[in-house]
This record gives sequence, structure tokens and C-alpha cells, in this order.
Amino acid sequence: MIRQFELVERIKAYDTSADEDAINRAYVFAMKAHGAQRRASGDPYFSHPLEVAGILTRYRLDTDSIVTALLHDTIEDTPATLDEIEGLFGGEVARLVDGVTKLTRIELQSEHTQQAENFRKLVLAMSEDIRVLLVKLADRLHNMRTLLHIEDPLKRRRIAAETMDIYAPLAERIGMQELKSELEDLAFGVLNPDGRESILTRLRFLREHGGDVVSRIANELQSTLASEGLDAQVLGREKTPYSVWRKMQRNNVGFEQLPDIVAFRVVVDNRDDCYRALGIVHSTYPVVPGRFKDYISTPKPNGYRSLHTGVFGPGRHRIEIQIRTREMHEVAEYGVAAHWRYKQGVAETDGRQYRWLRQLLEILEHASGPEDFLEHTKLEMFEDQVFCFTPKGDLINLPVGSTPVDFAYAVHTEVGDTCVGAKINGRMMPLRTQLQNGDQVEVITSKAQTPSPTWDRFAVTGKARARIRRFIHAKEREQYIQLGRSMLHRVFRDEGYDYTERALEGVLKSFRQGTVDDLSTQVGAGNIDAKAVVERVFPGTRKKTLYERVMPLARHRRRRTQPEKVAVPIKGLIPGMAVHFAGCCHPLPGDRIVGIVTTGKGVTIHTIDCERLEEYAETPERWIDVSWERDGDPATSVAHVGRVHMTIINEPGSLGSLSTMIAKNQGNISNLKITNRSSQFFEMLVDIEVRDVKHLTDIIAALRATPAINAVDRARG
Ligand code: MN
Repeated sequence: MIRQFELVERIKAYDTSADEDAINRAYVFAMKAHGAQRRASGDPYFSHPLEVAGILTRYRLDTDSIVTALLHDTIEDTPATLDEIEGLFGGEVARLVDGVTKLTRIELQSEHTQQAENFRKLVLAMSEDIRVLLVKLADRLHNMRTLLHIEDPLKRRRIAAETMDIYAPLAERIGMQELKSELEDLAFGVLNPDGRESILTRLRFLREHGGDVVSRIANELQSTLASEGLDAQVLGREKTPYSVWRKMQRNNVGFEQLPDIVAFRVVVDNRDDCYRALGIVHSTYPVVPGRFKDYISTPKPNGYRSLHTGVFGPGRHRIEIQIRTREMHEVAEYGVAAHWRYKQGVAETDGRQYRWLRQLLEILEHASGPEDFLEHTKLEMFEDQVFCFTPKGDLINLPVGSTPVDFAYAVHTEVGDTCVGAKINGRMMPLRTQLQNGDQVEVITSKAQTPSPTWDRFAVTGKARARIRRFIHAKEREQYIQLGRSMLHRVFRDEGYDYTERALEGVLKSFRQGTVDDLSTQVGAGNIDAKAVVERVFPGTRKKTLYERVMPLARHRRRRTQPEKVAVPIKGLIPGMAVHFAGCCHPLPGDRIVGIVTTGKGVTIHTIDCERLEEYAETPERWIDVSWERDGDPATSVAHVGRVHMTIINEPGSLGSLSTMIAKNQGNISNLKITNRSSQFFEMLVDIEVRDVKHLTDIIAALRATPAINAVDRARG
């Protein structure tokens, strides 16, 4: 286990400005927090965050990253809280620790790795600060190094597979070749121990029988370059068993030759020397055709730069050579983390890490040779997406701003149509809640549920919105059909005919309608006049006198309360669309009401005694029976506006006592207009939001008992 002072010394060796105090405090905090916890290996748990911090010193990361590494498991595994960490180590560290903790949680959540690409995107999207990802990768590396202590073979395999599918590609994407190779090789040892062992055996055999062929080749290459005046370092490096195995898989051959096992690296001082070295190598040894690649002029998307070539080198051995500068070499091994190694000593500013992240994004954006095309090269492209889980761990990705309704439709159309509620991370939440990265969403469904028109206000995905709209239209049509039918019934009856569908079928064509339902829809929507229909069916229907027209209306008014009449429900079907409340009489639940069909607008509701109804005396077919649905849910139903006319005494405080009295009775003043004013009195109209007519009556009674108020009455028409 690394000792406290060793850790500080390692950091100080590359970063003299490191915050020694913060590192010491984090060390002690994490050690105390993990207390007597043990790893599967039997080691104290604290050895793990300490090793993770140690791995990161290799990449010369900054104080905040090291502190984050020390603290990275305290939120998930100890009683420590994020607030505590923020208080002790500041907002930046708290944000980083929070990021790593979230990644750990989604890791624990998902047993599935079939959706590896989605999962990688999720991890990238959640690593808003690349340091979160670096700490997570170091965490995973240490867990892989100690994986043999996990006893359950299935769990070992799962973790190894996840490393292979998710974390190694992520390391590669940000250019951390060395870390990627180690992760892959460790995972390979778990997933295919026999394969790895046979390759190791073969490697040992070649090493023993080839003598020191690798170092002889390296030495000869180096002296060849030196004789041309080029000072270069030549390294012969054995590939990992996994990369050898991969190469064998790809080329479908056994490995017999050096290029499959050893990569030679020529490291020089500057870019020009790279091309000089290439020239010397190519003019000294026969070139293997098709092996040359220039990743200096065209870097790989992850920032990798080098010249690659293959030659028949010393001893006619076929070898592969990579030529690069020291800086390119560091970037090749350490990827994005290498940038830090070169930024040390440069004046530190708060925005340093962000500038550096931007550089990475630029690299990812601009380099995309067809050969090295990565499926997705930009981190940014995930900014407009959120990634959520089903309870089974399947990933659903959605546009930012999506809600559980969008999630439900993304899972399955039927799940969307029947969705009644949602649990987000185990808690019941409103359907309009905006989902966040990593949320686990459980959709509650009910066979009886149908899409609600209110969803249209917050659903964002095309699929959800299309379904909801389709449903609204179908319901709307349904309602217009019923409305149109009852209007036609009435006109037929008023004209003294029996209503039959057969009679209507004869005139469909002349109204350009396909079916009786279509015609009824048009009548209900107010686009076709019901009387025009009956006149077309029975040409020559005489015009009635006003008296004759009003009489059936009066009859209809009387019959309104008779039980056999079917009332058209006005609530709960298409709120705010097909039904309007008249502004003249302000009908309230509990009032006796009547509906008037208005062209293109559906139905306007008036109180039965509204003066404006006289205007419709000539067109009784536009009148329809309506009543209040009695069991409306008071919590969700809209507030209704009642209008009162009042006279109050003109003295200080009287307006105050008026509003106090209304508020006391749970009313809400939505509008107030003074209509007349004298030295003694105000006359005014007050609009009050109430539940129903009884509520308004109660308020009026309370107002009448108020001394400052002289007279109160409900305003009509
Ligand atoms: Mn950990």
C-alpha cells in the first residue's frame, strides 16, 4: 500500500504547485470513512482508492483529480455525504466525486452489455468533465488488477466483459493506449484464460529460441540511423497476448513472425526527424508494400500521431516500425492525459482543464480519415440526449427534456398508450418530470388508460406526440359525431320528420361526405348546417314562423331535466377545445346550462337564463342539451370564473376587506373592473375563480356580511 508521504512526493515530483494539504486531508478523510471495510482480497478497503490515486499520478493529474480518486467510493460505500465533501474540499471536487459516483451507480444497475455502444455513449455523456472519466478508468484498472480475488466466476466474467466492451474502447477513444492495452489483456485473461496461456507459452518459446534477436535488431536500427547523423532511441516492445490474439483472429493465421509479436519504435526529437528517419529506413531496407501510413499529417481521431512502416530489416526479418517524437509517444501512450504532462509549469488558470478539453474535442472533430473513422467522434453530440434505463437495465436514449411519457412510448407504443404513472429511481414522480442522464424509469400502466390530451403539452419525442395527437383527433371526431347526430335528431323532430340514417344516406354525395358519421362530424363541428341537411332530404320544407321555432325550443328547455334525455358530457373529453364557457354569463358547475354550437369552434356553454341566448332563438338546431359531469375530480378540474357585481363604500380599507374576505373563502380574484365611482361608493365587477356555483354563493353570502360592502349580486349577461 502506498504511504501517505509517498503519494504526496509522487505528485510533488511533477507538480510543485500541488495542494499538499488537500491531498493529506482527502487521504485521512477517505481512510476514516472506509474504516474497517475490507476488499475481497482481504486488504483494507482504503488500499483501493489509494491505488487509484497512485495510477493517476502516473498520468500526472492535477490535485482535484487525485483528491477525487481518494474520495471516489466514499459516497456510495460509506456514510459520507456530498455536502460534507463540498464543505471540506470545495465545489469542484464535489462535482467530480458526484460524477464518478453516478458512473458507479449505473454500472451497478446494468447487467446487460449487449448495448455496449449505448452504454459507452452514456458514460461519455455523463463525464461532462473528462477527469471524471479518467478517475473511472483508473478505478476500473485497479479493480481489474485485483479481479482474481472475486470468487464468483460469473461475476468475474461479467466485469471482464464489461471492461472489454465498454471501458477499453473508452480508453482508446480518448487515446490512452497503454491503459487500454492493460485493461484488455486483464479482461482477456478472465474471458479466455486458455487462449492467453497458449500465446504466452508460444511467446516464451520464441524468446528462448530466437536469442536476443529483438535487441539485436533494435541496436542495428539505432546505429544505422546514427551513421546518418540522426540521434534516435529505438525500442523493441513485445505486444500484449491480447493484441497478438486479436491480430491472429483478424488475419486468421498463426503467429510465426516477429511483426506479429514485436513493435519497434523509433523515437526522435522533432517532426522533421520523423520523416528523415523514415527516409533512412526506407533507403536502407527493402520496404514491405502497403504498410506505410502517415498519421502525422493525418492524425487518428483520438489524437494519435506516428509514421508506420514495414520493412525487411536487419537479418531479413520482417518488422514493423513506428516513428514518432517524444511528445507524440506520450500522447500515444497516455492520450488526453498527456496534455497535462506538457502543460505543467504553464501558468495555471481556472479554465485550464476546459481549454484542454476543448483541444481534445477539436482533435476528435477534425481528424476523421476513412480508415480510422470512429462511429462517433464527438463528445458534444451527446449534449442533446439523455440516457435512461428500464428496470431491467435496458438503455433508452431520448432527446433532452423528455418525460416519462416519451420514455413509455420509446419502450413500446402500447406502454405509452396505457401509461398512468412513473417511478423515477424508485420514487413516484409526475409524468411531466424531465428525465436526467442515468435515471431508472419504471412505467406504471393500466389497461383502462388512454392517452391524455394534457400529455401533448410536455411530450417532446415525435413518436409520443404523434400518438397523442392521433388519439385526440379520434376522440374529437367521436364527440362531433355524437353532437352532430343529436343536432340532426332535433332538427328532424322539430320539422316533424323521423330521423333515419337511410334518409341521410341519400344526400351524402351532395354534401361530399362518405358516410353518415362523416356528415354527422361536419354538422357537429358546425361546418354543415343541420337545417340544410333536412331541407335537402325533404325539399320544400316550409319556413316556420318565429313562434313555431321558439316553441320547440321552450319545450326542449323544459325537457332538459327529464332523465331519458341523453346529456352531452362537457367535461373530460376535449378540455379547452370543443367546449367553451361563455364570457357573458360565466356558467359555474351547479348552474343550469345549455350549449350553443358555434361554427368551427364547437360548443359554447351559457347559463339557461343568459340574456344572450335570445340571439339564438332563430336557430334552435344549434341548441344542445348539456349538463355538468357530477364526479369531476376537484383536484384536476379547471377553476371556473364567476362574475359578481358589487357596490362598496368608498373609504380606506374597504377594498382590503373585500379581498381578504374572498381569500378567506378560498376564492381567487382574477379580474377587477371599476364601472362607476362616486364620493360615497364604488361600483365594480369582480371575477372570482371558484369551484362551483355553491362556492360562489358562499362567497357572496360572506361578502354581504361585510360592513364595507353595500350590495353584492351575481352578474348576468
Ligand atoms: Mn472504486
